[in-house]
Parts: sequence; C-alpha cells; structure tokens
Amino acid sequence: MDFPENEKQSLNFIEQIIEEDLKNNKNEGRIHLRFPPEPNGYLHIGHAKSICLNFGLANHYNGLCNLRFDDTNPEKEDVEYVESIMEDIQWLGFEWDKEAYYASDYFEQLYDWAVKLIKDGKAYVDEQPQSLISEQRGVPTRPGINSPYRDRPVDESLRLFEGMKNGEFETGAMILRAKIDMSSPNMHMRDPIMYRILHQEHHRSGDKWCIYPMYDYAHGQSDFIEGITHSVCTLEFEIHRPLYDWFLDQIVEGDYRPRQIEFARLNLSYTVMSKRKLLQLVEEKLVNGWDDPRMPTISGLRRRGYTPESIRRFAERIGVAKRDNVIDVGLLEFSVREHLNEKAPRVFAVLNPVKVVITNYPEGQSEEVELINNPEDPKGGSRMVPFSREIYIERDDFMEDPPKKFFRMGPGREVRLKGAYIVKCEDFKKDENGAITEIYCTADMDSKSGGAGASRKVKGTLHWVSAQHAIDAEVRVYDRLFLDEDPAGHKDKDFKDFMNPESLKVLPACKLEPSLASVQTGESFQFQRLGYFCVDKDSTEGHLVFNRTVPLRDSWSKRKK
Ligand code: ATP
Ligand code: MG
Repeated sequence: MDFPENEKQSLNFIEQIIEEDLKNNKNEGRIHLRFPPEPNGYLHIGHAKSICLNFGLANHYNGLCNLRFDDTNPEKEDVEYVESIMEDIQWLGFEWDKEAYYASDYFEQLYDWAVKLIKDGKAYVDEQPQSLISEQRGVPTRPGINSPYRDRPVDESLRLFEGMKNGEFETGAMILRAKIDMSSPNMHMRDPIMYRILHQEHHRSGDKWCIYPMYDYAHGQSDFIEGITHSVCTLEFEIHRPLYDWFLDQIVEGDYRPRQIEFARLNLSYTVMSKRKLLQLVEEKLVNGWDDPRMPTISGLRRRGYTPESIRRFAERIGVAKRDNVIDVGLLEFSVREHLNEKAPRVFAVLNPVKVVITNYPEGQSEEVELINNPEDPKGGSRMVPFSREIYIERDDFMEDPPKKFFRMGPGREVRLKGAYIVKCEDFKKDENGAITEIYCTADMDSKSGGAGASRKVKGTLHWVSAQHAIDAEVRVYDRLFLDEDPAGHKDKDFKDFMNPESLKVLPACKLEPSLASVQTGESFQFQRLGYFCVDKDSTEGHLVFNRTVPLRDSWSKRKK
C-alpha cells in the first residue's frame, strides 16, 4: 500500500509492522485495532493522538477499530465519562466497529479463564496483607520471596476464589495471583495480581461482581476476544508486554494472538495531561468543568473553537515516535490557526470600545459598505456592513500622545476605517479620571473604499462597528493555563503553583457588527486584527458569549525570547 509521494515520505514503524503482516498474510490479512479508554475522566489531546492513530490506521488499511471501555475499576468510573468519550470520538470524525465494547462484558469469561489457571497450577489465592505482598516482591536487582500460600493445594485456591466471587470475604482480605516467577528481573512477572475483592457497584454490571480483574489480566484477553490484530498502546506498557503474552499463552490455543505495539505518548509543553491532575483542576474548581476552554480535554478544545480537522492535522504532523518527547503546544495552536484561516469568515468586533463621532457625517444618516468575508476563500463572498456618524473603535487604537511609529489614531492623524472612509482625529474628551470617553473626527468624504478617492493611502487601517447598529457581546479571552513549560515536572512544587492567573479575561461590553445577530453555538469567526473566536454555549437570546480560540499570531514564542 503506497502513499502518494507528496503526501508522506516514509512509513512510521507501526505502518511498517502492519505492512509486513499484510505481506505475510498474517491473521488472513485482517487489520483490527482498538482504542481502549478507561471511563474515569474526559479524554484529552493525548487520547486524541491515540484515537487518530488507531482509527486512522484502520481507515487507511481498510481495517476496523473497536472502541472498548476498559472498565475494570468501578471506584473511579462513571457513565458520564462513557458518554463524553463516545461524543468526543465521533466529533473527531471517527466511527468504531459495531457497538462499543466493554471489558466488563467479559467478566464471566475472564473468571472462567482464571479458574482454568488455578486448575493448571498457574494461579493461587494469597491471603497475606497487601503490604507484605509488596515487600516480598523485592526490587528488580534482587529476587523476591515466595508467598507461603504459593504452593497451597489447587482445591483450596479454587474454593477461596469462588468464595471471593460470592462475596464471602471483605475487601482486601485476599487476592488471586498468577504463579510466574518471583525472581524475574521484570517486576510485573513476579506473581502479579489478577483479581482483587471490591465491594463496589459497577456502572454497568451493577452489584453482580465483587471481584474485579486487574488491567494486565483483562487487557490482552479482551483484545483476544475481539479478534484484535494490533494492540497499540503507549510506551509505559512495554514492560507489561511479557505478561500480556504470558496470560494469552496460558489460556488460548491456536496461532492467533493480538500483538502489542508501543509508541511514545504525546506530551505537550505548558500542559498537564494526566487525568488525575485534570480531575483535580475540576474538583478544586480551578477551572469551570472538564470542558473549560482552557483545559486540554477534547471537550475543552471543542468549546474553545478547535476544529476536528485541526486536531487531526496536528496528530498527523507530530507523527509516531518510539521515544518520549515533548511537543510545543504552539504547534497545536498553529494547526487551529491554519484551519480557521481557511474557513472562518472575517467580521468586525470591538472588544474594548471607545466611541468616535464623525462630526461632518450627517446625523440620522447611515449607509452600507461592502466587506469581503474571507480573502482565503474564493467562494466566501461579501456582506454589507452599516456605517454611521457614531462608531466604536478599540481603545488601544487611540493614543493621546502617540510616538511616531504608532500608525493608528491620534490627535491630528489620519487613518482609514476599513471598507469606509479616511478619518482625521480633531479632538477628544476625557472623564475626571483621565480616561478617553469620546473622540471627534472628520471624514474625507471623497476617500470611500471602492470609490473615486479610494486610492489615497494612509499608514493605518482600523476596524470599527457602527454604534447604533452594534450588537453587545461578552468575550472571554483565554490564555495558556500554565506559565511553566513543564508544570508537572518540578519535584519540589505542585503543578498548580504554575497556574497562569490571567488565563481568563472576561470582556463584558464588546460591540459586534450586526451580521453576527443570528450565530449558532460553536460557529467560528476571525475578528479582524484580533484573532479567532467562536460562539460559546453560554450564549442566550440577547446575550452572546464568544470564546477566543487563538490570537492571530503566536505571542508566546515572542515572550520567551
Ligand atoms: P492518563 O495517563 O491521562 O490518565 P490513561 O493512559 O490512564 O491516561 P486510558 O483511558 O487508559 O488513559 O487511555 C486510553 C488510551 O489512550 C490508551 O491506549 C493510552 O495508551 C492512550 N493514551 C493516554 N494518554 C495518551 C497520550 N498522552 N498520548 C497518546 N496516547 C495516550
Ligand atoms: Mg490507562
């Protein structure tokens, strides 16, 4: 299977493995992957990377990809998470094979296999306290100590395991362990735990079970049951692979085995990405929920105005690595800026308005000027925007005493109001605190854009909104949530110590051009000269709320230098 030359130069190592398997007709040429989230939190951009990889490979090789919930830990799991995960994957543009799968649907089969392992003398019930078991495990350089229960009769283990299942024992009273090798240099092979007692309702199986399988005991077998051919996971599972293979080798016959392949997880600068830390931000109300637009969750990015295409492009760009690395979050921001530049209509919005009166423009009169919707989009068309005697401009675009290089508005200076006239500032008014309250200009009535005098050039061009036609809006300007490149990487400090106190600024009284009167939640626009913004779900009839997705330019790379 060849990629077009210009699209992609070489195969990544996972594609190489898959193509080799296809060439050898391994698994009769089937390609079947899976994405196996634990429903214990919302998905983040790291998961998006894994989703794009797994579903992307399946699409590319005409294979399938399952969504499987790895729901073996009922204490931390919830249907809210199941639902959000499904929504996020679909939003990213992927479809899983058939219905979603759940590891909990295999509890019966996993139990039967555990019984088989006990009967085969390959598993036993250990009644020692957890602390002692950990101690006996030893350290990688020194062999562990066998549990006194290791060689207990098979019947005894069978009876106790059944009792565990039937709820005869308290949480923590005993565990089922695989009998492998207490002197293995791989700690995961030192008689790992297979089952623990947990008197805890499960979000799907209810109170049917009070023993739950460990990840290592459930994962490979779940892959096997579903006929997965390539089980792609992150590097930290590399050391688990011998155990993944061991369980399958004890349990199943025949040649077919899913193959575990590890790649480097995505790490992003200025971001924390562990679900545990993200949960902490939510629970301690340091952000406004999982979908707070500052969160690196998929739902947060969506609300922030990221598009599925921009995330998929980002995932493609960063590629697949075998070694851990950190990606500059600026690359993610670049990807969304790039996509929104192509698709977002340009509009005028004034975020920090100050009023300008054009004294020679007749009172009560207005006109419409034509503005291009998107210079990047030949089919973008144009729209009519009203202009009148009183307009708003950005407060920043006026200086009472501007330096020479300031090409915006100042006393005696001329600027063009984009799409309309060249105006000259004649005067201004201040309040008792020295804040500018009103600016007075005269327009060169012959200078209208598109008209005979349009060719006259001035240095600055400003956006503006006609005061009487303006729509009010609240705009939430977001910045990075953390000020440090690696907030979770400091031994002596908590990641929350590095939170950016200015990650959210609310601008309550913005003025928008009237074409924005009937926007829908999620729609994106370029506010000209300012950045990309999208309509937030908090918008109501009469109260529009916009989120800033990204500014037009990357201000962080400048800040750093
Ligand atoms: P976290 O470390 O954020 O708590 P997790 O690995 O515990 O995440 P899972 O629900 O088990 O979360 O992850 C589902 C899948 O997503 C796994 O296959 C995992 O390897 C992958 N994944 C998780 N985080 C990343 C990441 N940062 N980059 C790439 N893949 C990831
Ligand atoms: Mg995990």
